[in-house]
Amino acid sequence: MATVRTVGVVGAGTMGAGIALVALSAGTRVQLCDVQSQVLDKAAADIWARLQRRVEKGELTPDSAVALYEQLSLETALDTLAGADVVIEAAPERMELKQSLFQQLDAICRPDAVLATNTSSLSVTVLGSVTAHPERVVGLHFFNPAPVMKLIEVVVGEETSAQTVQTAVDLAHLFGKQAAVCRDTPGFIVNRVARNFYGESLRVVGEGTASVEDVDRLLHANAGFPLGPFKLMDLIGVDVNLDVTTSVYEAFYGEPRYRPHLLQARRVATGQLGRKTGKGFYTYGDTKDSGSGSVWEQMTEDNRDHVVQRTVVFGDTPLARALQTRVSQLSGRPQSHVGLTFDRPLQDWETDAAHIRAETCRQVAEQTSPEFVWLDFASDVAPARAIVQSIEEALPEGAVIMASLAGPSATELASWLAFPERLRGFATVMPLPELDAQASGEHDTPVAAWSRPLQANDRDVDEQSQQALLALGFRPVVVRDGAGGVVMRVLSMVLNDAVEALREGIAGADDLDRAMRLGTSYPRGPVAWLRELGAGSVWQTLQACWRELGDDRYRPSPLLRQWWLAGSVVLEDRHGRD
Ligand code: NAD
Repeated sequence: MATVRTVGVVGAGTMGAGIALVALSAGTRVQLCDVQSQVLDKAAADIWARLQRRVEKGELTPDSAVALYEQLSLETALDTLAGADVVIEAAPERMELKQSLFQQLDAICRPDAVLATNTSSLSVTVLGSVTAHPERVVGLHFFNPAPVMKLIEVVVGEETSAQTVQTAVDLAHLFGKQAAVCRDTPGFIVNRVARNFYGESLRVVGEGTASVEDVDRLLHANAGFPLGPFKLMDLIGVDVNLDVTTSVYEAFYGEPRYRPHLLQARRVATGQLGRKTGKGFYTYGDTKDSGSGSVWEQMTEDNRDHVVQRTVVFGDTPLARALQTRVSQLSGRPQSHVGLTFDRPLQDWETDAAHIRAETCRQVAEQTSPEFVWLDFASDVAPARAIVQSIEEALPEGAVIMASLAGPSATELASWLAFPERLRGFATVMPLPELDAQASGEHDTPVAAWSRPLQANDRDVDEQSQQALLALGFRPVVVRDGAGGVVMRVLSMVLNDAVEALREGIAGADDLDRAMRLGTSYPRGPVAWLRELGAGSVWQTLQACWRELGDDRYRPSPLLRQWWLAGSVVLEDRHGRD
């Protein structure tokens, strides 16, 4: 990278002040420019206060804090930035204002200076188009608070040169951040791929499938998100979050995946904006959290042992294999005695293979004669149905079937059976925590959605099936029956959008994963997560939601289906094609 000695920052508000501190900390001179001198004074005071906090923590000596602060100059005129190597614009989010600033900066700055924008939602290409040198215009999207957040999205406009992109990536590294490079598209990576974490959760609550608290609980204590979607919307500001959703939705000309939801709009219309107003999806001051402690305390040792000794698992997904391992560890029985799992799901046309699997499963069910059967199949409906029916034929009377909702609803799954009453649905996502970590309390108890098919009403089966979940270490969260359960449905929507972004060439897999982990603290990147869940499970979940809910937002990315057919997540070498 050409040496960056001086960074100009235009706009000294929330983001500009933070970016200035980041650049000072990296050892560059910073010219911070704003039209309001009182904003500049406040920014300088904030920067000084933050440097002093670092001195108190022992991260800086008093002298080095003074030396860094002396590298800051406050400006009210743009033309003072003529000598800057890089200018980062952090002015209000208005296209005309930013275009006017870029036109002026283009005329003022050296021809080799890079002109960057911190815009969250405007097109870098359109911003750059008013300059004589759009090849030096790039997005440097910092996250708030800029000194803390580890990610910068480097947004590549249609005219941005490779050299400018490289300078931007190098600059992100110089600033101690990680870069995620992406093409200029509405929402870039994070603000786009995160949309369905909120949007699908709002739908689940809006249609009465689960409560706000339960959706948060499922996405936190099962999927591992640091905060559930409703707590997070309250933290971000329900209005700020709705604005981003609306802008992405409009920018994609009404793509149904990004459609905003009435529940959120109504909160905004009534001033329930989240923590900042004391009320949003929760009322602050009286929030109660879900109970903790081990789920195993809720059943006797004998009862638990009885359940795990009488449990077998069938399936063709990573989750089925993980459950089989869990049962084997909990019961002390060898893996081969606690079920039968296959390493890939079957497609519709594989009738012979389906027949063979159905027969082997039937034999295992007959030999083991279980009281509790867990099923997780990502095969197409026809082979899955044949296998499930064959297992049921061999089960003793009274056996309870726990069927995964990563696909059809419990009601649909039960309709395949001779005795629909015996089936209950569960939904949980991979990866499962290690049993040791869970038993020692090091890992929170995972929760799993539980639902009853519409055609069933036996309370004893409800009780037994919840005992089955508890015995395997899951706290049940009762939800209304529907395709995909709750957590797989929300997660599948998020992952599907990430796969679409990958397919469209918006960003590579590593950049996507890095952006979602660092920009919004996802427990794992979407592509890595897909590998753990299996593309087949996600495809089947979306397919089932699409069938059941009839909304185009659930149409699966073609790439998901291709990965499933190919047997794994295959990343295309796009360079080979260019
Ligand atoms: P802000 O309102 O806090 O600050 C904007 C500053 O720009 C104000 O101090 C204003 O006086 C100044 N300004 C206005 N016109 C100017 C001009 N012609 N020349 C110089 N300064 C001018 O806004 P913010 O929250 O810091 O957001 C700034 C940009 O960063 C926006 O594009 C926003 O979308 C983006 N962004 C914001 C966040 C966030 O969480 N706040 C996160 C990422 C990106």
